[in-house]
Amino acid sequence: MNLRTLLSDVLGGHRLSEKEALFLLSVKDRSLFEVWCAADRVREEKVGPVVTYVRNQNLHLSNICKNLCGFCAFGRRATDEGAFCDDRDTVQRKVRLALDRKVSEICLLSGVHPEFDTDRYLDILSWVKEVAPSIHVHAFSPDEVNHAAVRSGISTLEVLQAMREAGLGSLQGTAAEILVDEVREIICPAKVSTGVWVRIIREAHGQGIPTTATIMYGSCETPADRIKHLSILRDIQGDTGGFTELVPLSYLHQNTPLYLEGKAPAGATGREDLLLIAVSRLYLDNFRNIQVSWGKLGVKLGQMALLAGANDLAGTMFSDDVSEKAGAGGADYLNPLEMERMTADIGRVLRRRFTDYTPADD
Ligand code: SF4
Repeated sequence: MNLRTLLSDVLGGHRLSEKEALFLLSVKDRSLFEVWCAADRVREEKVGPVVTYVRNQNLHLSNICKNLCGFCAFGRRATDEGAFCDDRDTVQRKVRLALDRKVSEICLLSGVHPEFDTDRYLDILSWVKEVAPSIHVHAFSPDEVNHAAVRSGISTLEVLQAMREAGLGSLQGTAAEILVDEVREIICPAKVSTGVWVRIIREAHGQGIPTTATIMYGSCETPADRIKHLSILRDIQGDTGGFTELVPLSYLHQNTPLYLEGKAPAGATGREDLLLIAVSRLYLDNFRNIQVSWGKLGVKLGQMALLAGANDLAGTMFSDDVSEKAGAGGADYLNPLEMERMTADIGRVLRRRFTDYTPADD
């Protein structure tokens, strides 16, 4: 396969096959700059010079989790030191704090609490909405939807309908990790299978509930697994159009069982991080937005990702206990002024957006 011919074809509208995408993801010498450059050109044609971000607040509900995934340092057993589960008053206090920070989105993050059922998830939505009726609530993963359905003896479709009626604005495309069951058996054996994740995401899109799409890479998967994962996302998007963006999540290894037990490497390299972004931009021709997780990459590599195909700086977040526990420093808050500096420095323009990517007025 000739790299230059392939990239020229892609820029001319050719749709990459899995084999071709894998070839691009495997580049190791200086020609990787050509892949980044092609991805940046596709980004420019698709969304222009604008870099977006949302003013949001992460709100951690509980770290008690039935799954205890090997790549995660956040989840705890209920009896473990440091385990917590917020009650109504605590959730509402955190929501008021978020309102003081003038966020447009609250992102609820939680372990998959063994005792949560559908009613508890609906209660949480109502607690948030009581305090902030017009806030966009971005919450819950397909794994939590499945857990709620099993605990309550109803279908996942019924759970989604009830969540939407209770004020869920968008579902998180998390718990995807790598959508290859052999890999999931190693990194997150207690989570939903690939097939169930795909079914719930399709159900959400069918109900008019948008979702993000995520990929958690850099642990035990191969480059071919990463492409298989992207291929599943591209197929879903082709059918539903319900993904708002791809969120690439680089594995943070330091404090996680998989790494400490010698079962996973020390995360992705910088080359892998930027190539994953670039190949995602080139392969996911039906996605408009590719996000930079600055909490995982850091601000400096995150800025470079904006030159490798990405166009969105995610949110202000204000706190990210999941990344902090895994060993990331500075994952808690990125001031829009710093985002402005990152984007202006590469000749781009920062704009605030809402969760659905409609532009904010300021
Ligand atoms: S990744 Fe999520 S589901 Fe897995 S242990 Fe951590 S909090 Fe629990």
